Amino acid sequence: MRPIPMESSSWYTKRLPRGCRLCRQGAKMVLLVTGRCGESCYYCPLSEAKKGRDVVYANELRVASDEDIVREAEAMGARGTGITGGDPLLIMDRTVRYVRLLKERFGTAHHIHLYTATVDRERFLRLQEAGLDELRVHPPIRHWGRLGDLGLTEAVEGLDMKVGFEVPAVPGEGEGLIALCRFAAANGLAFVNLNELEVSETNCQALLARGLHVRSDVSSAIEGSERTAMAVMEEVGDAVPVHFCSSSFKDRVQLRERLKRRAKRVARPLDLVTSEGMVLLGVVETQDLEGAYRLLRDAHGVPAELMAIERGRLEVAPWVLEALAPGLPFPCFLVEEYPTADRLEVERRPLG
Ligand code: SF4
Repeated sequence: MRPIPMESSSWYTKRLPRGCRLCRQGAKMVLLVTGRCGESCYYCPLSEAKKGRDVVYANELRVASDEDIVREAEAMGARGTGITGGDPLLIMDRTVRYVRLLKERFGTAHHIHLYTATVDRERFLRLQEAGLDELRVHPPIRHWGRLGDLGLTEAVEGLDMKVGFEVPAVPGEGEGLIALCRFAAANGLAFVNLNELEVSETNCQALLARGLHVRSDVSSAIEGSERTAMAVMEEVGDAVPVHFCSSSFKDRVQLRERLKRRAKRVARPLDLVTSEGMVLLGVVETQDLEGAYRLLRDAHGVPAELMAIERGRLEVAPWVLEALAPGLPFPCFLVEEYPTADRLEVERRPLG
């Protein structure tokens, strides 16, 4: 069976897991429940801010309370959540609490998948009972050729939730990946997801030390990862559904769609949402924010809904500020930001 192409050089055979279908629409919230993990995979891409740290993030929002998670899911109109880590199974009480919370607040149709490197039937059963829909096991690379040692067959036997593997397509590990797919087929697993291996601030030295390098200066994808995944898919055929998720798919489709979704919901009348899901706004910087607000309102007739004093600056609809900036006595800028909780600024252009 030949793999079927998707957007941005991703591929799949047979069918996509439900969790992936929702990710493709940008409808899944990413909930990192801890940065702690019992493994130390050399390719682990987790950032410095998260790796080994017991922190919680809902998308880009550092979570301080359970309500933060609910608010972020509402802000993006999430139809599901991908629970990730670290290893969520190291902090079972918290993970189970979050699964229950999301199901209670958003209903049983809110689809939840979870990644773990732990194989433990008792913990799998607790998650299933809490309402988890899809379990994605990431066996450490040293086990790929001998998965029987992990006790996975017994651990997942008879579970109602979907169970599959999710691992990176590591160049040079084709044999192990084929063994993993064959194991999945023989044990009735629902899918195997192969992620394109990516470089990050924390794994780049380890990848370089193994002779792995990026495909180009403008890509974080590792050369040979896609080729490895394609060879595995060709070899495995239709024995088990396999999905190759490319680095550019994550960036150009999953993230982009999630940003557009969030931008549409959180945009104020003064924000301009671009076709890429970014927010454009005008910014006035001055010590006298109240004075600037009054000047724009009284002398230039700018309506209140097109201005706001936020984050220590005066924010103004960009089309309004572009027209007024040449005559204003303050520094004015056109700013482009992510529509995320951290509102990361990506570009700033002076006006006037
Ligand atoms: S199991 Fe996942 S989170 Fe843990 S070290 Fe490996 S890649 Fe990182």
